Amino acid sequence: MRLARLLLLPLIVIGTLSGCAVNMADIHGFNVISIEQEKELGNKFAVEIEKQYPVYNDPEAQKYIDRLGRRLLTGAREVNFDYVFKVVKDDSVNAFAIPGGRLYVHTGLLKAAQSETEVAAVMAHEISHSVARHGTRQMTQQYGYSLVLSLVLGQNSNMLGQIAGELFGKAGMMSYSREYENQADFLGVETMSKAGYNPQGMVSFFQKLDAMGKQNSSTLTSFFSSHPLTSERIQRVQAEIAQIPPRTYPLVDNTELQKIKARIK
Ligand SMILES: [Zn+2]
Repeated sequence: MRLARLLLLPLIVIGTLSGCAVNMADIHGFNVISIEQEKELGNKFAVEIEKQYPVYNDPEAQKYIDRLGRRLLTGAREVNFDYVFKVVKDDSVNAFAIPGGRLYVHTGLLKAAQSETEVAAVMAHEISHSVARHGTRQMTQQYGYSLVLSLVLGQNSNMLGQIAGELFGKAGMMSYSREYENQADFLGVETMSKAGYNPQGMVSFFQKLDAMGKQNSSTLTSFFSSHPLTSERIQRVQAEIAQIPPRTYPLVDNTELQKIKARIK
């Protein structure tokens, strides 16, 4: 009996993981907000968000992040938006996506990353939230369709700043469901690999940030306040990496990142 149970356990674990994988690959969940409406909402939110997070005014850093973002998009399942990648002045280690394919990378992330692959890992996760349109899906669940629609239509301009701030602003980072976080990791791994970045970099950067956070529990690793790091999460990402066909990844040149890091200091 006990032996049978022991033998069954790995099967159950594998079953659960592959069961997840099937759902994880489905990026078209129910969303009442159309792509066009989401673009509109993203444009409006960007104005509010950039009042709270000053854009880092360095053409080289902006160009660099844009190049990384475009490369990662080649590995995305779908590209529905005209993606915009920006660096914002904020020392905490984080990046975030707002609706409509707009991504913001904190200067703190660039400072903490030791390789381009590490920056790419966080960006791939955030791009995946955009690809699966988690922002508008979660907003609709949280605030209701009519309120979200009124924001899109510009009928509720005084609520716009408040909601943008509540979700993505400094006060409260969008806190996605566990399911959405897992999917962003899953798609992030796939996106990295297809774009030629070794997804193992996601695991090692998460582990590094976790260790940094334990030494200095300030805002240093705010990525994990909205993305809790658990051993289960790491294990899942590792299992997902094991599922993708093995390949040799091109060597990553980190000289450009080093130059940008030097300028941020
Ligand atoms: Zn996330």
